[in-house]
Amino acid sequence: MRSSGDTAIVTVPFSGLRHVQVSPQLSYGKRRAVCEVHYDSATKVLLEFSRRWWEMSEADWKRELNAMEPGLYDAYRKGRVPDDGRLLGAHPSVPPGYLTQAQRTHYAAHCWVSRDQPEAAEVIGGGSVTDNPNRFMFNPSHPVPGSDGGVVLASYSWADDARRWDSYDDEARYALALRGMQEVYGQRLEVFFTGVGRTQSWQRDPYAYGEASVLLPGQHTEIFPDMRTAEGPLHFAGCHTSLKPAWIEGALESAVRVALEVHGGR
Ligand SMILES: Cc1cc2nc3c(=O)[nH]c(=O)nc-3n(C[C@H](O)[C@H](O)[C@H](O)COP(=O)(O)OP(=O)(O)OC[C@H]3O[C@@H](n4cnc5c(N)ncnc54)[C@H](O)[C@@H]3O)c2cc1C
Repeated sequence: MRSSGDTAIVTVPFSGLRHVQVSPQLSYGKRRAVCEVHYDSATKVLLEFSRRWWEMSEADWKRELNAMEPGLYDAYRKGRVPDDGRLLGAHPSVPPGYLTQAQRTHYAAHCWVSRDQPEAAEVIGGGSVTDNPNRFMFNPSHPVPGSDGGVVLASYSWADDARRWDSYDDEARYALALRGMQEVYGQRLEVFFTGVGRTQSWQRDPYAYGEASVLLPGQHTEIFPDMRTAEGPLHFAGCHTSLKPAWIEGALESAVRVALEVHGGR
């Protein structure tokens, strides 16, 4: 599509601008910035549960599990339940039809031998940081009105941690994220997993091309000064052109700078 104008404000992340033909060529400094500025990755995996198990007490667990099958509570505590995925979503509160065979297969294939089962978390909101691949987990603070369930941000990771998730397809990510949660919170939470998840990799997003620019050592002095300079009728905005990349504040700041740049010159 072709259009014309006196001035253009370019807010496309430089990781994406790399794929855009600009004619006549941009200055050497700008081209170098477009080619070299480092963009980080970010990936999230969200999982849905039919109960907000993270809010449950040990007594709640005992009641719920033993109602499913007498002795199941103790079996989980002693690590004597099958780890082949057959108990995924086994609680009667889980609506049927969402757990796929592929998820059970991934789960069974990647199941870890867990340490002793931890006590009930019994928290509202909050989150955990772990060395396992999930890295950061966040529980919702606000219940969904009329629902006992909730959606957990089972994994939020950046940089190299995120790229290790990006290699997997969505179905595999759900099973792996569930496993990471189980390592921290206990195997038994699997009974409430509905099979529904959502995952987003900003690295694989064709409109984002990564999480945000995160400058490498030296790039602030060698590259950054060229990122925000105008090139004839082209002006550059977006959080990557500010000193606060990866923040909305930086994007807004750059918008004000460019508005003044464009209008101040008239
Ligand atoms: C996972 C994640 C968590 C974040 N958390 C926070 C937070 O907690 N707090 C905070 O302040 N900030 C956060 N940010 C950062 C914040 O989202 C960004 O700083 C802000 O959105 C940047 O705005 P922008 O306008 O510079 O770029 P963007 O919002 O990325 O806008 C760029 C636009 O360009 C479009 N585009 C791309 N390619 C082309 C093309 N070739 N042609 C035309 N258009 C194109 C894209 O579709 C997009 O709409 C987060 C970002 C991510 C990814």
